[in-house]
Amino acid sequence: MGKVVAGVAIVCAAAACAAAAVTVSYRMRVRSQRHHARSFLLEFQEACATPVARLRQIVDAMAVEMHAGLVSEGGSRLKMLPSYVDQLPEGDEKGLYYAVDLGGTNFRALRVQLGGKESRVIKQEYEEVAIPPELMIGTSEELFDFIAKELSSFVAREGDGFQPSAGQSRDIGFTFSFPVQQTALNSGTLLNWTKGFKVVDAIGQDVVAALQRCIQKRGPEMRITALVNDAVGALAGGRYWNEDVMIAVILGTGTNAAYVERAQAISKCGSTFPKSGEMVINMEWGNFWSSHLPRTPVDETLDNETMNPGEQGFEKMISGMYLGDVVRRVLLKMAQEAALFGPNVPRKMLEAFSLGTPDISKIHDDESSDLKMVGNVLRDVYGIQNTSLAVRKIVYEVCDTVAERGARLAAAGIVGILKKIGRDGTHSKDVGSPVHPECGKTVVAMDGGLYERYSKFRAYMQAAAAELLGDASKDVVIELSKDGSGVGAALLAASIAKNRRK
Ligand code: ADP
Ligand code: MG
Repeated sequence: MGKVVAGVAIVCAAAACAAAAVTVSYRMRVRSQRHHARSFLLEFQEACATPVARLRQIVDAMAVEMHAGLVSEGGSRLKMLPSYVDQLPEGDEKGLYYAVDLGGTNFRALRVQLGGKESRVIKQEYEEVAIPPELMIGTSEELFDFIAKELSSFVAREGDGFQPSAGQSRDIGFTFSFPVQQTALNSGTLLNWTKGFKVVDAIGQDVVAALQRCIQKRGPEMRITALVNDAVGALAGGRYWNEDVMIAVILGTGTNAAYVERAQAISKCGSTFPKSGEMVINMEWGNFWSSHLPRTPVDETLDNETMNPGEQGFEKMISGMYLGDVVRRVLLKMAQEAALFGPNVPRKMLEAFSLGTPDISKIHDDESSDLKMVGNVLRDVYGIQNTSLAVRKIVYEVCDTVAERGARLAAAGIVGILKKIGRDGTHSKDVGSPVHPECGKTVVAMDGGLYERYSKFRAYMQAAAAELLGDASKDVVIELSKDGSGVGAALLAASIAKNRRK
C-alpha cells in the first residue's frame, strides 16, 4: 500500500514538474515574443521620430517647394494651383446661397441665408451622406448624377427662412477636394484623383460642366458660380468671420492647405495680376515630399498597395484615411513576427483599412489604468479576446507614435507656410509686404474630421507648432473652423455674386 502511495506521489510530482515546465516554457515564449514586439516597437518609434531639428528641415523644405511650385508648372511636387479667388468674403454678403461639398468620405449639400454685416448667417442647413463606395470607382456620369440627385432633393425641401432672390437662379459653390487645374473661378479640369477615388473618365474633364449638365437634367434652376477646393473653401469660411485668417488646412480623409499669396509671387501666371494684388493658392500639399520625412518600411508597403503609389506621400503620413492603416500594418507585423495576439494572426487584420483612424483615436483616448477601451477596440474590430495589459500598452503606444508623427509633420507644414509668407517670426519687422504686413495676428483655419475629432492629434499638432514658432507663437492662432470648407464655398459664391452686382 505504502509503495502504491509513493508511486502515485512520484507520478504526481513528475506531472506537476512537467506542467510547471510547460508553464515556464510558455511564459518564457510569451515573454520572448513580447520582448520581440517591444524591440520592434522601439525600432518603429526611432524611425518615426520627429525631433525639432528634423521638423525645422521639413519647415524649410516646405517653404522652398512652395516657392518652386509658384515659379514654374511642374517645378515642384506641390502643384501650387491658382484658385482664381482674389477676393475673400468680407461679411457683408446677402441672400440665399448653396454649396455642394464632395469630400473623400462624405458628401454634403448645404444652404445659407446671409443677412449682411450685422446679422451674418441668419439660417443654415445641411445634409450629409456617405459617398457610396461603388461611385468612387465608377463613371463620371454616375458620380455627378448622384451629386445632382442629392442636391435636387435638398433644394426641394427648402423651407421657411430661406428666400431666393427674385428672378435669379440659385448660386452654388462647388467644393471639390481633388486636384483641379482651374481656368476660371467656375471651371477647371480634374488633374488626378486621390484618396479612395478612381473615376477614370473624369480625368481631364471640366468638373463644373459635368455637374452643371447633371443638375440641368435633374431640373433645379441652379448655377455653379464657384469651383472651390476644400482648403480654399475653409479659407473663405474662416475669413468671413475673422479677417486675420491667412491660411487654411484640411485634415480629414485627406489633407490639403491653401493660403493668400501676393499675386506678384506667382511667376508662373505671367503678368496678369488680379486687381486685388493677391490670390488664394491651393497648395495640394498632400503630395509634398522631402527626404527629411521620417518614412519607414511600413509606409513604403502602404504606399505600394494604394491606388496611387508614389503620390500623396505627405497625405499618407498625416491624414485620416491612412493613420489607422499605418497602425494596422505595424500591429500585423507584431502579430506575425512576435505572436502579439497569440499563436494565430487575426484574419481581419490582413485586410487593408480594417482599422480606421476613429478606432485609433478611441484607443488613444483611453486614460484608464487597465486600458479597457484598448481591449474593447481590439475585441470589436478584430475579435481578439482577453488581451494582457502589456499587449494593450504596446497597441496604445503604436497609436501614439503614428498620431504624434502625423500631427508634428502637419505642424511643420503649417510653419513652412508661415515662413513662406513671412509670418513665422524669423523675418525682421521691416520686411513686410503690402499684402502681408508684419503686424497683428495670423490665423490658421483648420477643418476636417481628423482635426475636429481626434483631440490628442490636435494637442500634438498645437504643441509642435508652438515649439517651432517659439516667441512668434503668440501671434499665430490655429483654430477650428468647423465645416468651413462647405460653408466657405457658399460664401464665395455670395461674394462673387456681390461683386457681379457692383
Ligand atoms: P471628408 O474628408 O469626406 O471631407 P471629414 O472632414 O468629415 O470628411 O473627415 C472624415 C475623416 O475624418 C474620416 O475619414 C476619418 O479619417 C477622420 N475621422 C472621423 N472621425 C474621427 C475620429 N473620431 N477620430 C479620428 N479621426 C476621425
Ligand atoms: Mg471635406
